[in-house]
Amino acid sequence: MKMAINGRTQKKKDIPEGLWLRCPGCEEMVFRKTIEENLHVCVECGYHFRVGARQRIAMLADADSFEEYLPNLMSPDPLGFGDRKSYIERLTEAQRQTNLYDAAVVGRAYIKGRPLVLGAMDAGFIMGSMGSVVGEKIAFAAEKATALRLPLVICCASGGARMMEGILSLAQMAKTSAALARFSQAAGLYISIMTHPTTAGVLASFGSLGDIILAEPGAMIGFTGPRVIRQTMKQDLPDGFQTAEFMLEHGFVDRIVARKDLRSEVASLMDYCAG
Ligand SMILES: [Zn+2]
Repeated sequence: MKMAINGRTQKKKDIPEGLWLRCPGCEEMVFRKTIEENLHVCVECGYHFRVGARQRIAMLADADSFEEYLPNLMSPDPLGFGDRKSYIERLTEAQRQTNLYDAAVVGRAYIKGRPLVLGAMDAGFIMGSMGSVVGEKIAFAAEKATALRLPLVICCASGGARMMEGILSLAQMAKTSAALARFSQAAGLYISIMTHPTTAGVLASFGSLGDIILAEPGAMIGFTGPRVIRQTMKQDLPDGFQTAEFMLEHGFVDRIVARKDLRSEVASLMDYCAG
């Protein structure tokens, strides 16, 4: 994965791989192990590094409490899609890199002793794009939460639609939204946690349908990239556009919660809403 190291590719070559990394927030060289031990948050500036779906679940759920739903679900490549590489090749590569079958992990868990259905997305799996597997897992999680009468918490991280699945990818927006509507009719509590980045189809469906929407500091949240918007609208965009902080100020996000506080925050919210 290429980190955003603006104009610093030259310097990066001098750095021994692995031990140190440059923080995109403060541009300081930070010791990788220190960052990892700090929930992947920069100790200097608080920059929240991306974490994978399994790490995310490990950070939130009580130890050994997670029981995964549909662990082996894989896309069958419905369109036989290929561009520079075939979709199957891309899937295989992403599976090897992330140790996941697709970009979402869902299951039953406990947070501070409170039962719930918990899901997390992995932005490292083909940009956390939503295809039929992600859609099925999120819808399944919502259905399970409905049947079990449990709160649902989903950590979103997505760069967009899984274009290799064409219209089937877009259909997942309707599918997940419909499942969440039924969950809502059954008076279920759904907390959406927007992490960096939460965009496009995920933002426009289950990402923004939370009864409560939390976001991590600095997370990019938006439907499409600023360049496309600038070109379409033909006007400059305000400062901080598409950050969690901007979204909070404009009422789209309910609260920004630092990663270290997420577990407690979710547990408290579940208590408040338990009635
Ligand atoms: Zn930093």
